[in-house]
Amino acid sequence: CAAAVLVMRHRMKSSGRWAKAEAILMELEENCGTPTGKLRQVADAMTVEMHAGLASEGGSKLKMLISYVDNLPTGDEGVFYALDLGGTNFRALRVQLGGEERRVIKRESEVCSIPPHLMVGSSHELFDFIAAALAKFVATESEDFVLQPGRQRELGFTFSFPVRQISLASGILIKWTKGFLIEDAIGQDIVKELTKAMERVGLDMHVTALVNDTVGTLAGGRYNNPDVIAAVILGTGTNAAYVERANAIPKWQGLLPKSEEMFTSLVRVINMEWGNFQSSHIPLTEYDQSLDAESLNPGEQIFEKIISGMYLGEIVRRVLCRMAEEASFFGEDIPPKLRNPFILRIPDIAAMHHDTSADLKVVGSKLKDILEIPTCSLKMRKMIVEICDIVATRGARLAAAGILGILKKLGRDTVKEGGKQRSVIALDGGLFECYSEFRNCLMNTLKELLGEEVSESVTVEFSHDGSGIGAALIAASHSQYLEIEES
Ligand code: BGC
Ligand code: MG
Repeated sequence: CAAAVLVMRHRMKSSGRWAKAEAILMELEENCGTPTGKLRQVADAMTVEMHAGLASEGGSKLKMLISYVDNLPTGDEGVFYALDLGGTNFRALRVQLGGEERRVIKRESEVCSIPPHLMVGSSHELFDFIAAALAKFVATESEDFVLQPGRQRELGFTFSFPVRQISLASGILIKWTKGFLIEDAIGQDIVKELTKAMERVGLDMHVTALVNDTVGTLAGGRYNNPDVIAAVILGTGTNAAYVERANAIPKWQGLLPKSEEMFTSLVRVINMEWGNFQSSHIPLTEYDQSLDAESLNPGEQIFEKIISGMYLGEIVRRVLCRMAEEASFFGEDIPPKLRNPFILRIPDIAAMHHDTSADLKVVGSKLKDILEIPTCSLKMRKMIVEICDIVATRGARLAAAGILGILKKLGRDTVKEGGKQRSVIALDGGLFECYSEFRNCLMNTLKELLGEEVSESVTVEFSHDGSGIGAALIAASHSQYLEIEES
């Protein structure tokens, strides 16, 4: 009889826990909701902010940074280098370009992960490390790559942080984002920092272009396909760039001599820095708020913090923490590993979300391997998958709304009379590439927002390595030797 009472008590207690866990899940779902109407409001707000950011410096949370990249000329030939820094890794790349034929004849690259302490150390240390790795890579150049006689090697530097450019090959770092915070680099010319480090390690290389990864991706995409009008990065961080008419950039016109005749026909690539977008229409939860408050950059990059790869796993972790604390989801004790910020990374979230096995094996093994939770019922695993789904869906749908905002700004969200206007968006980044649930959701949402007819004229194109190649192409088309030869 006593045993029966115990069983009964246990059942009552565990059903109480379930009810609490389920309540937390339902609340999450409700607070992360992104019905179509809300997404339209987000897209409209994005368009409004784009206008404001173009009108004046500091006019919006969207910095709308002017790149010094216009249309891509055909470019020079020979070997060009690129350096891509911005997420958890950096990549060195070399390409052999065929000039007029618009061809990348050969390419080689090397990925190197950045030791975490360098992401929050000093500028000197970070750039020394990068320059040394680049020098090592340059030393492996084979005869397949032909540097024209008497030339210095040239580099396109993809630096994926907000930079106020002064020219194509110089720019001041406005702030760090993602996992980086190196105080003494803020306000510095990033090209100077890199150049000094290259000198220190004895590498003879000229930085010809400094570009954001979105700008590199856009340039690379446009090189192959002139219909590419925007580029979006969905990786560790998120951002977008697009091609804008110069006469639609009031803050830039102010910088130019009056009445430049040709000016109106020019275009400029704008680095939106959409990661910093904010709008009251964005659904935020208590988890987002605490994540933001405890981040390296509180109050900033809010759009990025609910969309991009660096943060999605961390949001899931925070939900699980609350379930552990308030609903004893994992038993009486809270699994110690669950307390570690950023322990759940995007490959883990994607793997759990993609688990199609009947007993959700993958979820079970992830919990065991990463969080050291030995056992977990099927019901619990299902709940965890649901959390991943809710968080990823919100991110993907908001990213789609952002794209709609750009299309609206360009008047490409409707069918033009008689026109067969095509809009291609180049997309790069590990989140988009490897997380198929996220990718599919984004694509479907964009279709949902645009409607059948318009969505036929809009294509999202995955552009692998787009940013690195693009930077090399920009370097080639602005080679320091071009003008000398032309004149
Ligand atoms: C940076 C952008 C970058 C994006 C994607 C953001 O955190 O601010 O400059 O394009 O990440 O890498
Ligand atoms: Mg990148």
